[in-house]
Amino acid sequence: MKTVKDYIRTIVDFPHEGILFRDVTTLFADPRGFRMAVDQMLHPYAGQRIDVVVGLEARGFILGGAIAHQLGTGFVPIRKKGKLPGTTISQHYKLEYGEAIVEVHDDAIQAGQRVLIVDDLLATGGTAEAGISLVERLGGVIVGCAFIVDLPDLGGRQRLEAMGMEVHALCA
Ligand code: 5GP
Repeated sequence: MKTVKDYIRTIVDFPHEGILFRDVTTLFADPRGFRMAVDQMLHPYAGQRIDVVVGLEARGFILGGAIAHQLGTGFVPIRKKGKLPGTTISQHYKLEYGEAIVEVHDDAIQAGQRVLIVDDLLATGGTAEAGISLVERLGGVIVGCAFIVDLPDLGGRQRLEAMGMEVHALCA
């Protein structure tokens, strides 16, 4: 039987020369693959209370929407700067080259709500760390961070675990 990893293709030299990009659109496009990924991402949290699912732009929206629907919770997007229409709080973070800013609506999460953070891939952990910071600044309690892929050589898992986060990924 195929595993989640079997549905992900690797694109050479995207978006820059020397990068092996893990393309999860082939996983999302497959009915069995997509369902398998969503079900397996939820598995570690069975029996735990989750009030809201937070997805990181952009592939975290696709996964997070499906996971929230499955859990019967709401979904909150964390977006790149300038995309959200209401009042937001912002967080800077470092990219491999340069910096970026992500934002969340300042009324999207209530203090004490239990949050699952979702994205497709964990690399250095910078994006997830910025998302964690936004959720915690609003008073959310992070139950875990769920990814399809963890690239272990880039240190994201250690970075998030050092912050006290529970990290789950389906494959490396
Ligand atoms: P990090 O901030 O952990 O270094 O990078 C993770 C973020 O970059 C995630 O939001 C993820 O979507 C994106 N990303 C980086 N490399 C890849 C890749 O090879 N494939 C995919 N699908 N996303 C990537």
